[in-house]
Amino acid sequence: MKLSEIGEFGFIERIRQRAGGAGVHLAIGDDCAAVEVRAGQLLLTSKDLLIEGVHFRLDWTDLYRLGRKSVSVNVSDVAAMGGNPEYLFLGLAVAPTLRVEDLDAFIDGFLAAASDYGVRLIGGDTCRSPGPLIVSVTVQGKVPTEQMLRRNGACSGDAVYVSGTLGDSALALQLLQQGQPLSSHLAARHHDPRARAELGRALAVAGIPSAMIDLSDGLLADLGHILDASGTGATIEAAALPLSADFQAALSLGQASLDLALAGGEDYELLFTVPVNREDRLRELSRQFNLDLTRIGHIDPAADGLRIRNGSGQMATGSPKGYNHFS
Ligand code: ADP
Ligand code: MG
Repeated sequence: MKLSEIGEFGFIERIRQRAGGAGVHLAIGDDCAAVEVRAGQLLLTSKDLLIEGVHFRLDWTDLYRLGRKSVSVNVSDVAAMGGNPEYLFLGLAVAPTLRVEDLDAFIDGFLAAASDYGVRLIGGDTCRSPGPLIVSVTVQGKVPTEQMLRRNGACSGDAVYVSGTLGDSALALQLLQQGQPLSSHLAARHHDPRARAELGRALAVAGIPSAMIDLSDGLLADLGHILDASGTGATIEAAALPLSADFQAALSLGQASLDLALAGGEDYELLFTVPVNREDRLRELSRQFNLDLTRIGHIDPAADGLRIRNGSGQMATGSPKGYNHFS
């Protein structure tokens, strides 16, 4: 059997079944693993890889921003659990021909982003790569046990919310692939995304979401993870998807399609579900953060599956066709 037949998530499921998670507070299957370090306090850990030619191209991004992004995509997973990120470990596999000045720029960006989030680099590993630059980052953080937000808490009737805007990073990637220039907004969203660290923590402290995930693989795929974990379905209102001014401009010029917002990856926004009696408190938080938190749909019973209602009210079945590394 080829890996492409079971895909990234089929493979992870095989690992999960063999590894077992007995005695661990939360093992494989969420944005972070969680272990109890002392009563009432969980240590969160997550790891993300960035590989040249798969996640980035050095002719499209500079190493400073790559360093920043390596931190943000990891911090995003701690934010998705409602945790406070604290420590980073940096694994690097580097071709011997890469210039030290360029690597210094990578570390400059890495440390600048770490400082933005208040996290510290405290270890890692370095070795030779036969070709591509490989960046492997591990992040650790903490969260009070009762505040941790998982993917499995969504209930039928809950509202589905997303922070910020969707599709900018995927649109930027599409424009890069077409050899087109990027606006500074789109370039920042793709090359230097900001993790919603403070928002994730505030949502957890306020106890508002019933489930949460960060958007790395695409809205439909990541919502699919919440639905699988929670045993529910959902309806998404396409007309409600929050889009940036640059995205809307590209949409009206026919350079972008709504699919980029539905299925494009690397938004690094937070996607969460909210019981309707907590929506008032959420609106308060949105004002406090001066950040759009948009209701894009609601949770349904499992039998309804994942559905998308388009602007004219027609329903389509959503396939969680986000990014899957082996399909
Ligand atoms: P995310 O997109 O939030 O980074 P992933 O989809 O990469 O999450 O991973 C889903 C879950 O599977 C996570 O709990 C992650 O730790 C786990 N996982 C992924 N790859 C492996 C692996 N090779 N071995 C063990 N666990 C893994
Ligand atoms: Mg994640």
